[in-house]
Amino acid sequence: MAQEQAINRIVELLSRSNNTVVVTGAGISTEAGIPDFRGEKGIYRTLGERYVLGILNIDTFRREPDTFYEFYRQYFMFPPVEPSPAHFMLAKMEKMGLIKAVVTQNIDNLHQKAGNKRVVAVHGNAERFICTGCGTRFKSQYVVEFPELIPTCDKCEQILKPDVVLFGEHIQNYLDARDLITGAKLLVVIGSSLTVYPLAGFVKEFSTFYQDLVIINKGPTQLDHATAVKLNTDSTGEVLEEIVRRVELHRR
Ligand code: NAD
Repeated sequence: MAQEQAINRIVELLSRSNNTVVVTGAGISTEAGIPDFRGEKGIYRTLGERYVLGILNIDTFRREPDTFYEFYRQYFMFPPVEPSPAHFMLAKMEKMGLIKAVVTQNIDNLHQKAGNKRVVAVHGNAERFICTGCGTRFKSQYVVEFPELIPTCDKCEQILKPDVVLFGEHIQNYLDARDLITGAKLLVVIGSSLTVYPLAGFVKEFSTFYQDLVIINKGPTQLDHATAVKLNTDSTGEVLEEIVRRVELHRR
């Protein structure tokens, strides 16, 4: 389907649906300057997936916190970036009543920063750290400024853990995410290869209900075959801007 036609079809589906949910992955944040894992600059390519999985897991965090924090500080303490045009468009779409919620695999806090009110983050939020001893929460700035490699709590001196889901841990907000996705009338996936479970499994489950699935992504995903519309792009911001423009025209 040509881009022009695909956008028109998405506008049609959005206008018809009273329950649209958006699912986002790392691809929506690459335009904001945060690389995804699998892309050219991603750490799965530059370092190898096995190496990354070997460090970014809960066992390494517990047993070798220095190895964990050396890696985490280098690759996961995101520089302060602004949301991309796509993030801002999703916030606008929520305000316009076009979408009900965003379910995201991202940990970069950019949907919240752009103004979306209903964001269900299943892999946590890298802006936060939690004390493994007393549960006190800290902002990432505390860790950035901490004088040692391994950050500890200023009350009980136990190690802080990033509030992100490491390999070997359960996802957060499982039920909310699953209910929103499987209960949607229209599901729009943006910037995800749909290879990371269980979220990809929820989308797969949704697609078996014969509801409308739209995927906006650069390159293939695991569920392209199940879509009403697949739009191939690396400018999700421009595409969403055009969709909103046409919906606004439609409404006049
Ligand atoms: P993924 O890496 O599996 O897929 C990202 C997809 O986005 C790829 O198909 C890629 O081609 C596409 N993409 C990249 N740039 C794009 C662009 N400009 N426009 C459109 N599409 C683009 O990502 P995933 O499925 O989200 O899973 C990776 C895991 O990594 C997730 O668990 C996530 O938590 C984590 N992660 C998060 C961040 C973040 O918070 N920003 C960054 C990297 C990884």
